Amino acid sequence: MEKNCLFCKIVAGEIPSPKVYEDELVVAFRDIDPQAPEHILLVPRRHIPTTLDLEAADQELVGRIFLVANQLARQFDFAEEGFRIVNNCKAAGGQVVWHLHFHLLAGRQMGWPPG
Ligand code: 5GP
Ligand code: ZN
Repeated sequence: MEKNCLFCKIVAGEIPSPKVYEDELVVAFRDIDPQAPEHILLVPRRHIPTTLDLEAADQELVGRIFLVANQLARQFDFAEEGFRIVNNCKAAGGQVVWHLHFHLLAGRQMGWPPG
């Protein structure tokens, strides 16, 4: 755990944020400022700052994140209509919290190109 990391604190339960999923690798919770009717964040339990910090040993973790996203899409009933998964990497990518996370967004029509 990285001190001063917001998502490490949420994973540890130090900052309350109801979890919609957790296992030994991945934790998911709702975004505090939702950009769509459904907006869930999927994060590794371990502190990894950005996508660029992923290593070969993290392949199972990244695969797990996408399978959990599929599971949540079915559980919360937006698998059929579809959804968007977003990762913002570093400053120009729009990353604000430097603990790797994937946004799972659904419940409205998404635009393209993204902002
Ligand atoms: P980023 O811009 O780094 O990809 O996304 C960070 C996300 O974290 C934003 O969508 C923001 O709303 C969300 N966020 C920031 N602080 C909190 C918090 O305390 N709790 C939760 N659940 N989400 C947060
Ligand atoms: Zn962290």
